[in-house]
Amino acid sequence: MSLSAVSSAQEVEARLHETGALLHGHFLLSSGLHSDQYIQCARLLSYPQHAEFAGKALAAACRERGLQPIDVVLGPALGGIVIAHEVARALGVRALFAEREAGALTLRRGFAMSPGERVLIVEDVITTGGSAVETATLAQAHGARIAGYAAIVERGSDHGLQPLCALWRVRPQVFAAEACPLCQAGSPAIKPGSRGPKP
Ligand SMILES: [Zn+2]
Repeated sequence: MSLSAVSSAQEVEARLHETGALLHGHFLLSSGLHSDQYIQCARLLSYPQHAEFAGKALAAACRERGLQPIDVVLGPALGGIVIAHEVARALGVRALFAEREAGALTLRRGFAMSPGERVLIVEDVITTGGSAVETATLAQAHGARIAGYAAIVERGSDHGLQPLCALWRVRPQVFAAEACPLCQAGSPAIKPGSRGPKP
């Protein structure tokens, strides 16, 4: 990892803390697992200056990794929309988003890619990589070629995405519900995004 990558990782972590995007507690993840940490990137991205910073840092990381040329950036809705737009702005290319229709990611609104265009798949957080893979498959179905993947946070290592540029890598502790020490200590698991129990 280069010096600039190390300093941007520290900067991103600080900004995630500062904006309340890094939550500590007891969370029920969409996978069904429990965790003591949750990252809500929407809170970071709700500040345009932080979104711009993350977009510029990811564009720089992609250049450093030699992912260019990149003709278009594509992010899955909703998490990928804002950061895909900021990365595209920094790269000087257009930003598209894919959205679910009848359960499957699709390009709507007249969005299109030309055959042979090199696309960068951008997400806010990558854990299993499932939606990034689905987004890449969609781009390939439109004739595009995958230049690579980019995410603000990489919070899992088994996604198999290659090459992937991430600003911050974190490995939160996750537990099966029946073996969760936080449950055993008597606290309720909160679904992220919900308001949680009233105090
Ligand atoms: Zn638990």
